[in-house]
Parts: sequence; structure tokens; C-alpha cells
Amino acid sequence: AVAALALTGCSSDRGGETGAEPAAAGFAADATIGIALPDKTSENWVLAGGLFEDGLKAAGFKGDVQYAPASNTVAEQQNQISAMVTNGAKVIVIGAKDGKQLGTQLQQAADAGVKIIAYDRLIENTPNVDYYVAFDNYKVGQLQGQALLDGLAERSGHDAPWNIELFSGSPDDANSAVFFDGAMEVLQPKIDDGTLVVVSGQTEIAQTATQGWEAENAQSRMDSLLAANYASANIDGVLSPNDNLARAILTSAKQAGKDIATITVTGQDSEVESVKSIMAGEQYSTINKDTALLVEQTIKMIQQLQRGEEADVNDTEQYDNGVKVVPAYLLDPVIVTKANAEEAYANNPNLLDIVKQAQ
Ligand code: BGC
Repeated sequence: AVAALALTGCSSDRGGETGAEPAAAGFAADATIGIALPDKTSENWVLAGGLFEDGLKAAGFKGDVQYAPASNTVAEQQNQISAMVTNGAKVIVIGAKDGKQLGTQLQQAADAGVKIIAYDRLIENTPNVDYYVAFDNYKVGQLQGQALLDGLAERSGHDAPWNIELFSGSPDDANSAVFFDGAMEVLQPKIDDGTLVVVSGQTEIAQTATQGWEAENAQSRMDSLLAANYASANIDGVLSPNDNLARAILTSAKQAGKDIATITVTGQDSEVESVKSIMAGEQYSTINKDTALLVEQTIKMIQQLQRGEEADVNDTEQYDNGVKVVPAYLLDPVIVTKANAEEAYANNPNLLDIVKQAQ
């Protein structure tokens, strides 16, 4: 499928073409490219903004990088995307704040011939999303589920059954269910056979959600779970969908007087503070989704579109957005624990340095 798609383009460069027609035959090599990012609550979004600025410039494009502000976020992101269309962007890359609420803006983009690439998070319920580029999110969830099992055996100090709790991400982010489903594919059979006990009984995604991916929401849910269920019982592990929430969960457990060296908490994103925590024996695992690689792949896709080619994809099955299956380019996520951190961050001088200093 990759080869077939890659061959359909034509190579003519219609330099100064203006926006009214679909950009089927490419666009100017110095065109404006819009980048709409959701927020700065995770380090990866902050990194992505800078990498897009630099990478687009180096590739000869004019980058227009915008973050949705902290208040009125969905409406502001909608406005930012509309403005990018009006200002003549040829491709808009979107890390959606709420991937279900961009239908109007993406229709406007399609009418103007603007290509849309959903970045990291799928955009749902619209035909007007051309590509999806992300790390394989279902695999992220599976790796988190497996890491939780591994950590329980390694550090709880006892055999099964193990007491655990489950956390998921923000309900307005399409990734949240994908992470959770991937993890539950691994964990559900172990809950069913009694290896794992979710003491609170909260196993539905709606019960485990963390609105806005906000650390304080995870911390207060963890405070309540501990108070209600673990006054005398031990908690052995927590499925956390990312690093920011993992640290909040660990803070809550510490404050409740739990010995966090025996608790397994998963994560995602390889945030600096979490890599330090892992090396200190606190957080158990994270996921390496190298933002530089994801941005690089996205810019490669933009360059293909600029030449009037189809962008490369390697998955045409997994990401159904409710209206269509969005052709996707998926990168491979890597699980990281203290045991493999040095190897996992071999290409990341900053994180490698943290690992080496802690050894
Ligand atoms: C991203 C994660 C991130 C989370 C919160 C998700 O969509 O895939 O990497 O931790 O959003 O920002």
C-alpha cells in the first residue's frame, strides 16, 4: 500500500498557485504551513513547537506555530485553524485539543484545498482529515499494561494477587481510549483470573478518566482512592497513562505514607522529571516517543505533499475516525525502565546524561 500511494503524485511545481483550488498538484516550496498544538501540559508538546519552527524553516517553509491558550481552549484552537486557512496555509498539522470539535474548520480547510495532518491525536467525525502521524498508541497501551505486570512481580515483595488502580487520560483526547484499550488487552485477563485486584472496582474508562490530562485531577482522584480503599490494604501498582499523571499519583501515595519503592507506576513521554524519578527507583516505567522523530516524519510528509505526491503511510486499517479510516504513518514506541534506560536514550544526549549521572 505504501508503494502504491507513493507513486500517484505528479512532480510539477506550480510555484505561486493561490488557495482557491484543491492543491492536488503540489504548492509553492516556500508556502506557509500551520501547526496547531493543544497545550503545554506535557513536555512533548513544548518540544514539538520548537522542532517544527526550526524544521520547517530548514525545509524552506514559513511555519506558523500556535498553541491553544489555557482558557477557552477549544474555541481558540478552532479560531487559530480558521485563521491559518484564511492566511493561506497549504498544510495544517493539528494536535487537537478536542478532536471531535473541528468539523466546521476542517470543512473550511477542505474547501480551500488545504491538506490536514492529524498529529499525535486522531481527529474524529470528519472526512476532511487527510493523514494521521503518531506513535502507535495502541502499542503504547499494551507496553504500559505489560510494564505494570512486570513491575508488580519485581518490586511488590510478594506474589499475586496484587492490588492495583487504573487511570486514563482526558475524555476529549481520542488517544485516551486507545491507550486504555491497549493496556486492558493485557490487564483484563489478569483481573478476570484474580491475579490483579482493582480494589476500588473502578475499571470502566469513564471512572478512570483524568479531565484535561491535569495532574491535579489525577492527584485528587488518587487521594480519594487511597482514603477509601487503602487505609489498611497495600497498593501494589497503578496504571498511569503518562508521566505528568504518574508523578501526581506518586506524590499522592507519598503523602498518604505509602512506600513508593514497592509500588509500580507506569508512564509515558520520557519527561525529564520522570526519567529522574525512574532512575531514583520511584516511577517504574515510561515510554520513549521521540518527538524529534515524529516531527521529522511530519515534515517529510509535508514535503511530499508540496511536490504533489501522496504522503507515505504504513497503516490503512487501524485509525477509523467514525467517517473514514485515516491513512496513518505510525512510529514505534519503546518501553523504558531503569534497566534499559541507557540503551533507550542512546540517541538523546539530554536524557542519556540524566541516566548516566544517576548510575
Ligand atoms: C499524547 C501523550 C500526552 C498526552 C497529554 C496524548 O495525546 O499522546 O503523549 O502525554 O496527550 O498531553
